[in-house]
Amino acid sequence: MILVLNCGSSSLKYRLVDCSNPANRRGGTIERIGEPGGEAADHAAALRKAARDLGLDPGDIRAVGHRVVHGGTRFRQPTLIDASVIGAIRELIPLAPLHNPANLTGIEVARELVPNAPHVAVFDTAFHATLPDAAATYALDTDLAKRFGIRRYGFHGTSHRFVSRRTADLLGRPLAELNTIVLHLGNGASAAAVAGGRCVETSMGLSPLEGLVMGTRPGDLDPAIGMHLHREGGLSIDEIDEIYQRRSGLTGLCGDNDLRRVLERRQAGDPAAALAVEVYCHRIRKYIGAYHAVLGRLDAITFTAGVGENADEIRRDCLAGLEPLGIAVDHDRNAGRCPTARIISPDHAKVAVCVVPTDEEYAIAEETAELLFA
Ligand code: AMP
Repeated sequence: MILVLNCGSSSLKYRLVDCSNPANRRGGTIERIGEPGGEAADHAAALRKAARDLGLDPGDIRAVGHRVVHGGTRFRQPTLIDASVIGAIRELIPLAPLHNPANLTGIEVARELVPNAPHVAVFDTAFHATLPDAAATYALDTDLAKRFGIRRYGFHGTSHRFVSRRTADLLGRPLAELNTIVLHLGNGASAAAVAGGRCVETSMGLSPLEGLVMGTRPGDLDPAIGMHLHREGGLSIDEIDEIYQRRSGLTGLCGDNDLRRVLERRQAGDPAAALAVEVYCHRIRKYIGAYHAVLGRLDAITFTAGVGENADEIRRDCLAGLEPLGIAVDHDRNAGRCPTARIISPDHAKVAVCVVPTDEEYAIAEETAELLFA
């Protein structure tokens, strides 16, 4: 069994996964770690609680896979954790101040609890290490960019990798021959253009703020907006950061970050909710056009994550009007939620539109097993 840990600043997701039998798994989530009335006083207590819940016998664990958000340019693959890897993840904290410290805490606590198994870091950024320079480079002063590590890193890589591979399986076509746009639409959202299994473009950049409209994050903005808020509004950097992280996106547009609720309000005739959905879908449509051009030939578009798997209206609306590009959805095939992978485009469509449920914890277990046991 492989233990998978996804440690956030105040939460811990844990899964015990049997890679030879994907159905054999169990786990849970501990929320509000360290908060008053939370489920655990700190990450060590949370991990002990998870171990109790799983009935964990450290002797049964062949390996521990850890989700690590930022791997910088150093980590292009899942990596066996040792003291130097821990040091390198720590050095990357300035690039992921909200995520890497929590990931590190998870690693340190888990190494004490399961000392005899190998621990592997699986990086959210690694799948995007193949971005060509033209896509990864911001048009900024080269020396400045180098000094501060400014480039497009991309995130959700574990999901984009897993889903692009499953898309090839679903279509019965070799991964090496398939050009796919993956739309990971969850609380966070990102798009990736994948050519023959290699990522060539992605919408998140230096941080997970760039790109698509998200629950509370704005995605693409004119860089002048932050300066304008500072100069004209007197807002501090920390206040602007807070606005970008928590008070933008769907929340900023209509006060709700959960798209289910936004869609209900649109249905009831609420104009702010209607505009929020239009902005959300317009951004996705724009990225599809751009990534189609980047890929040249497009074989498949795949929706995944909470919104992509469940919201048929969103799948329909963000592909509306793309028929001239060979992109369309079949009304009946698209209807409802998609708990298993399926094709939702009409027969013989030029571009196959697919829904493939993502499974980040299983994917982390799979990547851990590939590194250690393949
Ligand atoms: P994730 O981050 O992948 O867990 O996705 C979570 C998001 O998926 C939630 O915030 C919801 O906005 C969205 N979601 C889940 N189910 C639905 C649904 N049936 N319709 C619209 N959005 C949904």
